[in-house]
Amino acid sequence: MEKRPVCKRCLLAESGNTDLAATLEELKAALSPEEKTDDSEYERRLSICKRCDHLNDGTCGKCGCYVEFRALKKRMGCPHEKKKW
Ligand code: SF4
Repeated sequence: MEKRPVCKRCLLAESGNTDLAATLEELKAALSPEEKTDDSEYERRLSICKRCDHLNDGTCGKCGCYVEFRALKKRMGCPHEKKKW
């Protein structure tokens, strides 16, 4: 099996990992509006992650979560000690 190169600053949606990208879409569809971050806040959170040194191949080096999953839930926050979002 051919290994894909690691893209440190890629999000799941950009990584080519179709299984995880599909799971992300399923989660987005399953969350209620009360639970889900609105689109503009979701994009704001991810744009901060994309500029963060702790992003590594879609995961946050501070907590190990996929940042797109973490950013999707309104109640979740950035785990960095200086809380970036
Ligand atoms: S530390 Fe915060 S901003 Fe950085 S990748 Fe993790 S969740 Fe995103």
